[in-house]
Amino acid sequence: MIEKKDTPPEHPVVEQACAVMRRAYELGWISTRDGNVSVAMTDRRGFLVSASGVVKHALVPTQFVFVPADQTPAPDAWPRPSGELELHRRLQALFGSRNLTVLHLHPTHIVAALYAGHRLAELSADFPEVTRYTRVGPDVPALPATSEELAEACEAAFQPALGPAPHIVGLDRHGVVAVGKTPWEAFEHVERLEHICRIALTASQPATTPQGVRHAALRP
Ligand SMILES: [Zn+2]
Repeated sequence: MIEKKDTPPEHPVVEQACAVMRRAYELGWISTRDGNVSVAMTDRRGFLVSASGVVKHALVPTQFVFVPADQTPAPDAWPRPSGELELHRRLQALFGSRNLTVLHLHPTHIVAALYAGHRLAELSADFPEVTRYTRVGPDVPALPATSEELAEACEAAFQPALGPAPHIVGLDRHGVVAVGKTPWEAFEHVERLEHICRIALTASQPATTPQGVRHAALRP
């Protein structure tokens, strides 16, 4: 059970996590109450996760909930942790790092690319700006938000049979989950993938005005 006294008044990266969520809102990658973020406690006692339903463009460190590594929060814990707590809990345990951020957002072009049928790992392989720095994992199929199935599928996507774990995976009809040593590192993985999804979707759109027609229209 989560007790108020266990919640530390501050944490070195929680302020960064707040700044990341504010920036994600500014970029249109989440609406007001969307998305969530967790950061590991450096002493490995557990992690801090954003509270459920809070306004992300005004997120502050006191809106994080301490979740002990070895306990499940009581159903009446307040503030309530993010609805995606199980996803955060599984990924925090999977990586088991004292420097870990798990970031969940809904970036427009990544979701659009998934909706259009792109596989994000294949798409990103065409763009060295992504592959140099960001490993994109297998896409997670459309599953209900905040569900146990979604948390399980995300955990599986971050556990490759071979090679190192991905930095980011896409969730069909939903968003992404990214991990990093810091909130800004996780943010950068989202940013790189969002950028190339935007490029790919823009390139696949037919030109609004064929070149010949435009040139003809310019003639006196
Ligand atoms: Zn979501």
